[in-house]
Amino acid sequence: MTNSLFMRIRDRFPADLSSVLIETPDGKTYSYGDADTYSARIAGLLISLGAQKGDRIAVQVDKSPEALFLYLGCIRAGLVYLPLNTAYQAGELAYFMGNASPVIFVCQPYRETEVSAIAAEQGVKSVLTLGTEADGTLVSGAAEQGDDFAPVACADDDLAAILYTSGTTGKPKGAMMTQMNLWSNASTLETLWGFTGDDVLLHALPIFHTHGLFIACHCVMLSGSKMFFLPKFDRDQVLALLPRSTVMMGVPTFYVRLLYEDDFTADVSANMRLFISGSAPLLPETFTAFEQRTGKALLERYGMTEMGMATSNPLDGDRIVHTVGPALPDVDVRVCDDAGTILATDEVGVLEARGPNVFAGYWQMPEKTAEEFRDDGFFITGDIAKIDAKGYVHIVGRAKDLVISGGFNIYPKEIETLIDKMDGVVESAVIGVAHPDFGEAVVAVIVRNSDELSEDDVIGAIKSQMANFKVPKRVFFVGELPRNAMGKVQKNILREEHKALFA
Ligand code: ATP
Ligand code: MG
Repeated sequence: MTNSLFMRIRDRFPADLSSVLIETPDGKTYSYGDADTYSARIAGLLISLGAQKGDRIAVQVDKSPEALFLYLGCIRAGLVYLPLNTAYQAGELAYFMGNASPVIFVCQPYRETEVSAIAAEQGVKSVLTLGTEADGTLVSGAAEQGDDFAPVACADDDLAAILYTSGTTGKPKGAMMTQMNLWSNASTLETLWGFTGDDVLLHALPIFHTHGLFIACHCVMLSGSKMFFLPKFDRDQVLALLPRSTVMMGVPTFYVRLLYEDDFTADVSANMRLFISGSAPLLPETFTAFEQRTGKALLERYGMTEMGMATSNPLDGDRIVHTVGPALPDVDVRVCDDAGTILATDEVGVLEARGPNVFAGYWQMPEKTAEEFRDDGFFITGDIAKIDAKGYVHIVGRAKDLVISGGFNIYPKEIETLIDKMDGVVESAVIGVAHPDFGEAVVAVIVRNSDELSEDDVIGAIKSQMANFKVPKRVFFVGELPRNAMGKVQKNILREEHKALFA
């Protein structure tokens, strides 16, 4: 008997293996027994192709139940699951293959020729395909395998997955997640968020990212509950399935979009016990509007690819807007200055975290890894935060988004919060742009819902409330802010667009 991540998850499957694990919007169901059988066959196939314990299996496929079974098949065989964002194109794939040297690459059927050529150049042994209609060579190959693949023994610090970060602030980094990293976070969250076998999760997130893959699917599988598996966020499907769901996990954009819909009502969400938000900052306006509409408080939590979840507002108790809640029971957090001195309550600095969920380092980047860890094991998250007297963490922004103008440190969020409160503003992003006199100058990019609002109005309003060095030198209005698949504002794109503004 082994305590591998796979066995620990498998041990939580309901005794009745015919219980439904996944239901798709067209009503097709997959049972826990299916997950067990398919993961065995997929594990058998991967091993028959020469994969050995610790080898990486790179996967760039559309969301489907089979893709989840592929994850389970990998950890069942002691292989390292490496999912990739479906948006990545040829040049990026070459980087990931070169960087992670997977032995097998699983791709979308229609990209087989393109991916095979890159794989051959990068020394990847085999390419398999997986489509959304249970099609592809992964499925046909697995069908010839037996159902009783014995799980490969794994130690707690063996790797279970490599997950690339979202690339919001630079090139994506491969975060090495151990068996224990994933297990500890999964079991902590399943308990903390009160999952039971009666829950039904509305799953509309992608599964190449920690949020949709680990946080969501582990909570379901550990509690023996069921999930509606949507290919992507689709308003009609979400509204149709909400009355039959109990929990939803989403990025803030999901909730903003739902609030646009008049038929998103308290009635539609009456059966829901929990709406969870994360991966990007939730605007206080969204939190408030959501509570007014549904009578339910969104539960905001905070995490990163490198550690899964680290903090969460409580299931029972105060969910405080604009905070991401206290640290999880098995996670320690603190706020430090750059030198590593621990700061006092309410002082702003960089958030650090330590716990069984914190990753083993960046794949093939030992120097970068060393830079991001303190000697006592705390991981330097790169997020600017403060911790209040109640122990609730407030995320103030990202260290990389800090603007330094005329020698002053400026936190964009402080200015964004002020702008967002103005009449006519939907949302805003504040960036630093190179400036000959100040080093960097503050620039605001705003989505407005009234043509009346002008650049002078915004600048004038901020001038009366903030020190001069924080006042934007320029204001731009746009239809929408650039966001990635996880709903994160891509400030690097805005900085690039405006880089020559003061040149
Ligand atoms: P990269 O590290 O490649 O630049 P990334 O940090 O965006 O990309 P992820 O690991 O997907 O990649 O995202 C983690 C980050 O998301 C956190 O460091 C934090 O900045 C942000 N985040 C997550 N949850 C929240 C939240 N509730 N509020 C504010 N920010 C959040
Ligand atoms: Mg990051």
